[in-house]
Amino acid sequence: GFKCGIVGLPNVGKSTLFNALTSSNVPAENYPFCTIDPNVGIVPVPDERLNQLEKVFKPKRGITPAVIEFVDIAGLVRGASKGEGLGNQFLAHIREVDAIIHIVRCFEDENVAHVNGDINPARDIEVVEMELILKDIETVQKRIEKIKNVARSGDKKAQHYLSVYENLLSHLNEGKFASSFHYHAEDKMLIDELHLLTNKKFIYVANVDEAGINGNKYVDEVRKIAEREGVPVVVICAKLEAELAQLSEEERGEFLKELGVDEPGLNKVIKAGYEILDLITFFTGNENEVRAWAVKRGTTAYEAAGKIHSDFQKGFIKAEIMRWDELVKYGSEHALREHGLIKFEGREYVIQDGDVILFRFGI
Ligand code: GDP
Repeated sequence: GFKCGIVGLPNVGKSTLFNALTSSNVPAENYPFCTIDPNVGIVPVPDERLNQLEKVFKPKRGITPAVIEFVDIAGLVRGASKGEGLGNQFLAHIREVDAIIHIVRCFEDENVAHVNGDINPARDIEVVEMELILKDIETVQKRIEKIKNVARSGDKKAQHYLSVYENLLSHLNEGKFASSFHYHAEDKMLIDELHLLTNKKFIYVANVDEAGINGNKYVDEVRKIAEREGVPVVVICAKLEAELAQLSEEERGEFLKELGVDEPGLNKVIKAGYEILDLITFFTGNENEVRAWAVKRGTTAYEAAGKIHSDFQKGFIKAEIMRWDELVKYGSEHALREHGLIKFEGREYVIQDGDVILFRFGI
């Protein structure tokens, strides 16, 4: 599965957001590729196209959304990189996520203590990001130690590695993220294999109180920093989202109408996560089930087939590609066939967002 880690200082609303995200009950057995772990939540990706495709296929078992996994990663405090707080456990969790959601406290509440005293998003962001950079510095230093002797003995390859890593180290030492480090394309593997925390994609989630839903002065601060870094910002009230998540669908609809918004803020977080993970969606449909599948942009038909079933891949013959909106427009697979609107593609075909795919395979 694809994983987003939720990080931030203590008491900024991480658990509240995590609980809201994971409150919808998705049957885990439908997602065998997901991690079963109390810190990991399987979260359905809202997608209106599924509802429209349901009307086309009228599947007996209904629809199955794509999911992404969210991981609640506690333990980031000043000094975390030096092993204070939950340093190591924290690290094990954050290393394995594909992207990071950084929650920043943008709400005042005298009943909720702030670890550093007052509400100050710019300082909080700096504390968290500095800890991540410090951890990466440690990782790179360890790697340098490992290859130093080989390089000294005259090994040309090791010398090259060493020079790349030393440049990276000074870049990090300037307080910069690994993601902004420039290197030659052929050295990409050298950087990737370190799994650096500051080389992951991330977004800011500004957690506001109910009055701040449309922004406040703290959100403005976050936006300023985010703009400089070219990072997306999502504004939510985690507490409100947690309450919304407890309601029935009907009650939730009414509540949202009262608030004057058309969808829960949670959806924005999920969609933003989907985007930074660089995922697209394809669909499968038949009389039993209509299902959305998340795959990395650039995935081929052959790879996608394997995600559904190993038999689909082993016996791959071709993929029949329909467009979701044409299916909805013409009303059935049969109608698309008659209009010649189904494309036949081979294993190298690159899946497009919104494809409805019928895999043909033989055993
Ligand atoms: P964590 O330590 O980052 O996981 O923070 P929690 O999710 O446990 O939240 C800490 C406290 O802040 C709890 O008492 C929450 O109810 C409260 N809290 C979380 N989000 C909000 C919010 O948007 N507004 C207000 N007023 N309180 C919140």
